[in-house]
Order: sequence, then structure tokens, then C-alpha cells
Amino acid sequence: MSISSAPAPTQPEVEVKVNLQPAFTGACLCRGIRFALLTVPEQVGNCFCADCQRNAGGPCQTSAICPLPSMEVHDPGHLTRIFLVHETGSGRPKEKHFCSACGCTLWSVTANRPGERVVRVGLLEGGMQRLIPRVELFASRRPGWMPPVEGAIQWPTTPPSL
Ligand SMILES: [Zn+2]
Ligand SMILES: [Zn+2]
Repeated sequence: MSISSAPAPTQPEVEVKVNLQPAFTGACLCRGIRFALLTVPEQVGNCFCADCQRNAGGPCQTSAICPLPSMEVHDPGHLTRIFLVHETGSGRPKEKHFCSACGCTLWSVTANRPGERVVRVGLLEGGMQRLIPRVELFASRRPGWMPPVEGAIQWPTTPPSL
């Protein structure tokens, strides 16, 4: 993709701050927020719930669970805002973090797993090619024209453990 070769000229200091070689780098649409994953996420999944479909404007959101210590976030303009989703399966609010300049969803943080960020894979350079969904949630809401991911665990809604 040509996007990777065009870093935002207004933030030359960002690359310098990343000391370790990251497994992935990512950014929002306007590149005002950049981040790095220092390890390869082990849990990647598609979610077809109504919120994810609405937020994606498509059939699902593809996300990777990233422990906070394995992430570096650079938001020099303090662009990150949080939208609270109150109607969740757990009954506890979920944070949706997004860029206030471009509106791009970055990740969500659930009340049950505050030490992790559920990062949108589409923001990662090469993420869609390298990170294969191993689980699909709310698969009962998958549109008929979209086949299941081969080998991925299929849950009609959420797994019992969530
Ligand atoms: Zn942005
Ligand atoms: Zn969902």
C-alpha cells in the first residue's frame, strides 16, 4: 500500500520515540495518532454485533486484543476522545477510543478487561494480511454473502466466558 510510505510531515519526532522494533505500526486516518504494537497479538477476531456493524459501516469489525504494556501510543495533539457505550452484553460501560480530528475508531476498552485494548486491525500496516481471525463473534448476524473464515471458531453471539 502506498499509505505506508507517506508519514505525516508534521510529526517527525514520532518514529524516534519507538525504541524497540515494533511488530506492527498503526495510525488513524489523519495520522494525528500513531501507535506501535511491540508484540504480535495472539487473539484476533471478527465481531458481527450490531454495534460493530454500525461502527464499521460494514459486516463486521476485525480486532486484535493487545495488552497495554505491549503498546506505545503517540498522540502529540491530544486528539484521542472516548465515547462510552452503555448498552453492552456485560451491562458495564465500554470505552470506544477515537480520533477527534478524523473520527477514526482506534480501539475499545471493556470494563471486564481494563488492561487490554481491542485494537482495530485495519489501522495496522499489513494487519489485514498478517493477522488472521481465529474466532468470529455474533456469527449469526453474518450477511449471507460473506463466508465464515476457514478454521475460525464460530460463536452465534459471544462465548460463554465473556
Ligand atoms: Zn485522526
Ligand atoms: Zn461487536
